[in-house]
Amino acid sequence: MTDCIFCKIASGEIPAKKVYEDENLLAYYDIAPKSKGHTLVIPKKHAANLLEIAPDDLSILIAGVKKVAGILKDELHCDGFNILQNNGEAAGQSVHHIHFHIIPRYAGEKLDFSL
Ligand code: 5GP
Ligand code: ZN
Repeated sequence: MTDCIFCKIASGEIPAKKVYEDENLLAYYDIAPKSKGHTLVIPKKHAANLLEIAPDDLSILIAGVKKVAGILKDELHCDGFNILQNNGEAAGQSVHHIHFHIIPRYAGEKLDFSL
C-alpha cells in the first residue's frame, strides 16, 4: 500500500531497527518504546487489521510473534512480556497495517498501558 508507513518499513524505504526478518515477516523496535526492547511484528503483505488479514497469513504472523518473543527473551533477559494488538482507532490503533506489539517486562517495573 503506497501510503502506509509500515509497508514503507517493510520495503526498506523507511529505516527501522530490525530484530528479525524472513520472507513473510519483519520485526523491529518501536520508535516510542513502552519498555526496553518494545518490538512490533508485521506481515510484509499489507492488511489493515485482524479482520482483514487472511487466516493463513495470521497463522504465519502469530508463529512469528512467538519466535520473536523467544529472541527478545534470550537477548534482553526480560522476566516476561505482554502481547498487544489494536484494531481500529477507537481501540488505539494508529497505524493501519496489522502489527503485534511485544512489550518486554522486567520484574518490579510498572507500565502504563493507557492509549
Ligand atoms: P498502534 O497504536 O497502531 O497499535 O501502534 C503503532 C506503533 O507504531 C506505536 O507504538 C508507534 O510508536 C509505532 N510507530 C509509529 N511510526 C513508527 C515508525 O516510523 N517506526 C517505528 N519503528 N515505529 C513506529
Ligand atoms: Zn501497509
